Amino acid sequence: MLTDYHVHLRPDDPGTPAELYFTAANAERYREIAAERGVKELGVSEHIHRFSAALDVWQHPFWRENAVDDLDAYVSFVREETDLRLGIEADFIAGREDRMANLLDAHEWDYVIGSVHFLGNYAVDNDDATDVWRHETTAERIWKAYFEALARSALTGMYDIIAHPDLVKIWGSARPAPSRDPRFYYEPAIEAMLDAGVAMEVSTAGLRKPVGEIYPARAMIEMAVDAGVPIALSSDAHRSEHLAYGYETAVELLTDCGVKEIAVFDRRARRMEPLG
Ligand SMILES: [Zn+2]
Ligand SMILES: [Zn+2]
Repeated sequence: MLTDYHVHLRPDDPGTPAELYFTAANAERYREIAAERGVKELGVSEHIHRFSAALDVWQHPFWRENAVDDLDAYVSFVREETDLRLGIEADFIAGREDRMANLLDAHEWDYVIGSVHFLGNYAVDNDDATDVWRHETTAERIWKAYFEALARSALTGMYDIIAHPDLVKIWGSARPAPSRDPRFYYEPAIEAMLDAGVAMEVSTAGLRKPVGEIYPARAMIEMAVDAGVPIALSSDAHRSEHLAYGYETAVELLTDCGVKEIAVFDRRARRMEPLG
């Protein structure tokens, strides 16, 4: 079994109308390309901040700029016009957990993907004025804050999958890295994922980013495997050609790390299926 659950039908660019992408034909195209690449379990997980309802949770300027789509319309579209699993990528915003939980509880998802993109008001993966690296002092502080937020996100109970678990490395050598062994930062996050009973995403999206590596690093996958944290596999595609991107590399890495099964979701129930 191969899965691709962390998938966006529409690109991130602001101003792109949802109607162009939330169509049965687009979903069918995704389905066909995924099938050609051996992916049987396909789901979509649009960014929560693309939906106007997300402004009840948080009013960050980046969200206000992007929150234009109708969440109910997305949910009905996926359920009624496609055979895709229904997911959502929902940020962990510290202090906004109850509001986010209320928003998520209003719909019946197959899975909810939790992401840490923001530390306070600053972004981990936006190379603009909101970039956390322009506001924080050291790599140690940023990495610590990032993985602490990741641990907290797992423990909210809102999520089934914790996305791109070491997203903080996205810029690769273009940003400083902490000098100590990264396992120091991973450890509390792994423990939280285990305690919370959530799956950890292995994402090939990092291969398309400046860092040029799968999320997370091999050492973090090994720690998850040792601890018994289930693994979920996705590409974080934002267009159909990204589906299952780099999966040969991912399957080889996972196999090397001793992963034999990956997580499959149906109405928020998880089961494990053989990898491959
Ligand atoms: Zn993300
Ligand atoms: Zn995503």
